[in-house]
Formats: sequence, structure tokens, C-alpha cells
Amino acid sequence: MPIAHDRYAVFGQPIKHSKSPRIHQLFAEQTGQSLVYTAQEVSAEQFAASAAAFFAEGGKGLNCTVPLKELAWAFADRKTERAQLSKAANTLVLQADGAILGDNTDGHGLITDLITNHAIALSGTRVLILGAGGASRGIIGPILDQSPKSLTIANRTTDKAYRLATEFSSKGVITGCGFDDLQHLQFDLIINATSASLNDQIPPLTKGSLAAKGYCYDLAYGDKPTPFVQWGWNNHALKSLDGLGMLVEQAAEAFFIWRGIRPKTQAVINLLNSERRL
Ligand code: NDP
Repeated sequence: MPIAHDRYAVFGQPIKHSKSPRIHQLFAEQTGQSLVYTAQEVSAEQFAASAAAFFAEGGKGLNCTVPLKELAWAFADRKTERAQLSKAANTLVLQADGAILGDNTDGHGLITDLITNHAIALSGTRVLILGAGGASRGIIGPILDQSPKSLTIANRTTDKAYRLATEFSSKGVITGCGFDDLQHLQFDLIINATSASLNDQIPPLTKGSLAAKGYCYDLAYGDKPTPFVQWGWNNHALKSLDGLGMLVEQAAEAFFIWRGIRPKTQAVINLLNSERRL
């Protein structure tokens, strides 16, 4: 008789190049867990029906990526505090009573990669986030928890940056603005949370935006350095990183929520880095 494996999946659109199945397979091998993790192309219109069918057919947990995180949040019967705050969920969990719990592990992933993997402390620093979409929603709360001196959100559609800053204003010193307002301002850490890199573009940044000994972090990642990572190098960042480490760390947190075992991440990050076609 075939062994029944617990089933997990990532839903998104596009999903073909997702590294999540490989990451979770490596975690499962490392921790001796028996599970199957697949990637499924699901549009926003299909999401609610596809997620309901997945859980009805015995699925244990889902990851949700672009453009489904807000929909996944709405789909969840219950939300963790960090998902509630971000109004976006990247992890859904089937609970013992049949309810679906929504969580958001993106912020945990970013903070772990910055602080644990790269020794980049945020306390007392001036942080700039470019972009005000779903990813920004997930990382603002965890960044403010690190007590930066200030957090600025700059977005192409300025209203969205204002709205996000207002929403999180009770958690720390946070300001929303447009890209034009960034001239003459300096930051110790600039995080690119726009999807511009996916089209080989970069948000308009002025020379001098990055303070001496500052850092750059692009949430996007690819086989080649993203345009924003290159901007960081050209502007003398101490480190200019892409989001591969965050991807692995947010996956490890989801794995822990699902399986109760925390996988080791460094070996997986090293392996994925070695597989890049540079
Ligand atoms: P959304 O579609 O929700 O938001 C996209 C954001 O990018 C918006 O603020 C949008 O501005 C802005 N934007 C898009 N194109 C441009 C451009 N050419 N110039 C300036 N701004 C632009 O996407 P997400 O927030 O979900 O994802 C953002 C990025 O983060 C993606 O690259 C995604 O892959 C990455 N990500 C990585 C993770 C990881 O684990 N490493 C986890 C989550 C996300 P406007 O509002 O004006 O449209």
C-alpha cells in the first residue's frame, strides 16, 4: 500500500519558477519529515475555490504568494497577531478543529536574514522601505519591533505609502512619502520591496540616499544580482543583498508552524546560492 504523505503546496501566479517546493523538500529530508509539497498556478479569481478544494481533499497547509496574500488573509478563519496586523497571509494552516489559521512569516524571514545571517542590526537606524504592496505590509511591523530611529515608506502611488504609515503609526516612528520626497534624506538601510526588479527596473533613487556604511536589501532575488543590488554596490553599501535568504527563512518559519520542527537554514541557503547561474 502506498504511504500517505501530508500534503502542502504553494499557490501563486506566476509560480513556475518558485523555489519553495525545493526548499521544503530539503527541509523535509534534513528533519526526516514525510511530506509532499507542490506548486500550483492559481489566479486571484480561482483562489478561494482552489484553497477550499485543497483543504477539503486533505491538504495540511498552504503558502500563498503574489498576488494572493491579501486574499489568503481574508480566506483564513483565524489570524495570528502578525497576520492580523499586516492584513496579508503567506501561510495557511489546517487546525485540529478544521478551521484555517492565517499567518505571515515574511517579516520573520527578513529580520532573521538581516540580523542572524548578516549581523545587520536595526535598532537606532534610519530605515527606508521602497514600495507599499503586500510584502511591505508583512515587514513593517517586525521592522518597527526592532526599534529603528525612523522608518520611511516611499511609494510610486504616494497615497498607499501615506495609508500604510497611518495604519502602523501606533507601533513606532513611521512616515509615508513619494519618491520625489526622498531627495536630501539619508538612510542606514534601504529595503526594496517594490516588484520593479522583476522587470529589471529600479525605483528612482538619488545618489547620497544611502548613508556611509549603509546596507541595501532587495526582497526580490534571481540568478543574477538585481538592479537594486547593483545600485547598492555602486553606492558603496557595506552589504547589498537580495531576498534569497529571506525566502528560505520565511519558509523555515512556515515549516516550523506546520511540522513543529525548526529546520537549519544556512546549509539550504548555501546550496541555493551555489546553484545560481551567475
Ligand atoms: P505587490 O504587487 O503587492 O506590490 C508591488 C509594489 O511595487 C507596489 O508598491 C508598486 O507600486 C511597486 N512597483 C511596481 N513596479 C514598480 C516600478 N517600476 N517602480 C516603482 N515601484 C514599482 O507585490 P509584493 O509587495 O507582494 O512583492 C514585492 C516584491 O517583493 C516582489 O519582487 C516579490 O517577489 C518580493 N518578495 C520577496 C519575498 C522573499 O521571501 N524574498 C517575500 C515577499 C515578496 P504602486 O503601488 O505604485 O503600484
